[in-house]
Amino acid sequence: MKKIDRKDFCPHFSYEDAPQSISYGATISAPHMHAYALEHLEKYLQPNMKVLDIGSGSGYLTACMAEMVGAGGKVVGIDHIQELVSLSDRNMKKQHEDWIDSGQVEFVVGDGRQGYPSEAPYDCIHVGAAADEKPVTLIDQLKAPGRLFVPVGRAEQTIMVYDKNEDGKVETKKVMGVMYVPLTDAEKQMGRDHSY
Ligand code: SAH
Repeated sequence: MKKIDRKDFCPHFSYEDAPQSISYGATISAPHMHAYALEHLEKYLQPNMKVLDIGSGSGYLTACMAEMVGAGGKVVGIDHIQELVSLSDRNMKKQHEDWIDSGQVEFVVGDGRQGYPSEAPYDCIHVGAAADEKPVTLIDQLKAPGRLFVPVGRAEQTIMVYDKNEDGKVETKKVMGVMYVPLTDAEKQMGRDHSY
C-alpha cells in the first residue's frame, strides 16, 4: 500500500483512515479495510496470479493488487458505472500508465454480480460492495485453489471468505461485521442520495 499513493485515487483527505466519497454513489474504502482485504488475499496475490476486483471504484485497491501480482500477473477491475471506470483509468495512469498499456491492469464496465467470465478463472476475487446472498456465480469463476473475499448481507453485513480447495470443495469462513455500499443496479446507485 505504501507503493501506491492514495492521493492519486482519493484527492481529499487522502491519508485519513476513513472512507471518502468518490461521487456517483460510491466511496473509496478506508485504508484499514483495503489492508484487511489485501492481507486475507495475500496468498492469492502472488507474482503471475490473476485477480478480479469487483466494484473497483477509484481503482486504488486494483492498483495495490497489480503491484503484488507484478508484470506476469493480471488484475481486472470491474465497475457498473462508466464514469467510475473512466475515473479509475485516469487515476491509474497518473503513475502506472504502463500497467494499462501492457494489460497488467484492465478496467471494464459491467455488472459485477455476474463476475467477468471472459477472463475466468481467477486465483482470487475481491468484492468491494455487499452481495445480498452467497455469490455462487463468483465462486464458479475461482480457480481451485482460489479465494473469494466478499461482504454479504443487507442490514447486517459480514465479510465472508470462500475458499475453493484443490479438489473443488468450497469452505466458508466468517471474517467480521462491516458496512459496505450494496452491489446493486447502476440506475439505483445513480439515483441515490450521495451525501452519506
Ligand atoms: N473498491 C473501491 C470502491 C468501493 S465502493 C474503492 O475502494 O475505491 C463500491 C463500488 O461498487 C462502487 O464503485 C460501485 O459503483 C460498485 N458497484 C456496486 N454495484 C455494482 C455492480 N452490480 N457491479 C459492479 N460494480 C458495482
